[in-house]
Amino acid sequence: MQIEKIPENTVTEKSYSRTDWQGGYESLPQEYDYGIDDIEGQIPRGLQGTLFRNGPGLLDVNGQRIHHPFDGDGMISRITFSDGRAHFRNRFVRTTGYIEEQKAGKILYRGVFGTQKPGGWLANIFDFKLKNIANTNVIYWGNKLLALWEATEPHRLDPYTLETLGKEYFNSVLSEGDAFSAHPRLDPNSHQDGGAPCLVNFSIKPGTSTTITIFELNIAGEIVRKYAHIVPGFCFIHDFVITPNYCIFFQNPVRFNPIPFALGMRSAGECIKFQPQQPTRIIVIPRIPQSGQTGIKILETQAGFVFHHVNAFEVEKEIFIDSICYESLPEVEPKSDFRQVDFAAGSPGQIWRFHLNLQNQTVQRELIESRCCEFPSIHPENVGRPYRYLYIGASHAETGNAPLQVILKIDLESGKKQLWSAAPRGFVGEPIFVPRPDAKQEDDGWILTLVYDAAHHRSDVVILDASDLQKGAIAKLHLKHHIPYGLHGSFTSGVFAATGADQVAEGNEAE
Ligand code: FE
Repeated sequence: MQIEKIPENTVTEKSYSRTDWQGGYESLPQEYDYGIDDIEGQIPRGLQGTLFRNGPGLLDVNGQRIHHPFDGDGMISRITFSDGRAHFRNRFVRTTGYIEEQKAGKILYRGVFGTQKPGGWLANIFDFKLKNIANTNVIYWGNKLLALWEATEPHRLDPYTLETLGKEYFNSVLSEGDAFSAHPRLDPNSHQDGGAPCLVNFSIKPGTSTTITIFELNIAGEIVRKYAHIVPGFCFIHDFVITPNYCIFFQNPVRFNPIPFALGMRSAGECIKFQPQQPTRIIVIPRIPQSGQTGIKILETQAGFVFHHVNAFEVEKEIFIDSICYESLPEVEPKSDFRQVDFAAGSPGQIWRFHLNLQNQTVQRELIESRCCEFPSIHPENVGRPYRYLYIGASHAETGNAPLQVILKIDLESGKKQLWSAAPRGFVGEPIFVPRPDAKQEDDGWILTLVYDAAHHRSDVVILDASDLQKGAIAKLHLKHHIPYGLHGSFTSGVFAATGADQVAEGNEAE
């Protein structure tokens, strides 16, 4: 019998199977260290540096399943590119909670997104201990490699070994348990630092009113400016945007009822309810610190939920913000299993452009992309500035809500779009744009992304030519294992591992 071969990327009816998608949510308890030698295509020689990724490495503790992937222990993956070769290493962040739970062989902490200690509400009542899971992002800034989780302080790691060195307090500017968001923005040309780059981040202290604190870090990794503002109402803010003059936050319309959380019946995340009748508030804070509340502006727009923004920029007295918006907040139910999610029932994330007029305090918005998408990336030199190209994970189908299987490129000037699809059996992660050294064009560079390949139950590091996605992958680096679906990461030009022939030949597991 002859079996008809389906060519790559030919997709009929639904572009994915849920069973395939579920494979990317298996735990990866092993830690590896090897040169990558199973490569289709060629790694560009100009691609020198390191891709760091963070995300939940464990979806269970000794067989006890966690309730939501956002509650999984942070695992750093590092892919080093040098002279056309690549090297892989992964390590769990040795947080207090990870060490304790691995030793005990069971879940000891409640998770923010629904994981409860076994034993029902009695085992969880009045337990407000927070497990710092360090699982959301990883950045290299000021010679420090930092694993970030928004509710508490970062963990610092050794970039060569990925060993956990301890918590980072930035010379005591942060105190024990202080928040530090997982979405810093890198201002490539900071006015207040004589044109040097500066890292801008924030923390949220929510309550009946919310304190937003902004931190600006110099290239030595020191916090050189810190300013705080109090805004009315509860805030659930995951990301923000910057321009040369402003930090901008979207206050999603949500209500927090802490009682079921205190009584051990629901997690904190499950006590947040979307309020479709209330507006989204856009909080605009000047970056030049001013005393008191002077200078803050709060504008209103239609209700919606935003996790991530693409970018923002100023044009005269207007601010433009591009964001991924959902019609409502997807709610996590205590009895539900995230692996059984009905994608078709959810609302897709779509890209909207908001025009803010600060003088007459008005907001207008327009839809840029209706295809389901998440995890945007742009040229790092354009953060806070006008820009032309954006790259984002997207669904294979043009309409409806579905897992991310495509890398989509949008030319915001011409409206032209290009896409590269990993469907039907591949699932993409966040794309990262890396400029080619000495590039003249904004899209002259590479897109790096991790793709879960359900056909082989392994992950690939895929390299695309950002100037022409239609070309197909320049290189697919097949890893020896899968990496559970991750959250965020970053690229740095530093090379922290040997990628020579001896390393390539070893290919050993570290432990
Ligand atoms: Fe995020």
